[in-house]
Amino acid sequence: MSADDVSTPLMGAEETYFGFLRAGKWKIQRCQPCRRSVFYPREFCPYCQSSDLEWITPSGLGTVYSMSRVASKDDNGPLILLVDLKEGVRMMGGAVDPSHEGMVIGAHVLARLDNTGEESRILFEPVPEGAK
Ligand SMILES: [Zn+2]
Repeated sequence: MSADDVSTPLMGAEETYFGFLRAGKWKIQRCQPCRRSVFYPREFCPYCQSSDLEWITPSGLGTVYSMSRVASKDDNGPLILLVDLKEGVRMMGGAVDPSHEGMVIGAHVLARLDNTGEESRILFEPVPEGAK
C-alpha cells in the first residue's frame, strides 16, 4: 500500500447513496420483505435483517423532530435539523434559509438536494402555505 491509500473508501450502500446524490438524485432504501424504509444506507434491513433493499425516491416531506444550532461566536451558526420523513425514517440535514425563518420543532418541511458545495447534502425548508 502506498501513502495515498490511507483514506478509507466508502463501501456498499453508503457509496451508492452518495453516488446518487452526486448525480442529483436523492434516494433512500426500502426493505422489500417488510416494506419499511431504511436510512442511513446499510446492507441489511435493521428490522428483519434482509439484504433485499431497494432504492426509492422519498417524497421529501417531513416534520422537524429537533433542531440545534452549531455553536459560533455571533450565536448565528448553521442550524442542524433532525427531520422525521414521511417515509418513517429520521435524518439529519441543514436549513435552506440561513435566517431559519419559520423553522420550528414540529414544522412541516420539504427536502432539497444541494449540490452547490463540495459535498452533496440534504437541506430542508418550511413547506409553503397551502402545500401538502
Ligand atoms: Zn426488512
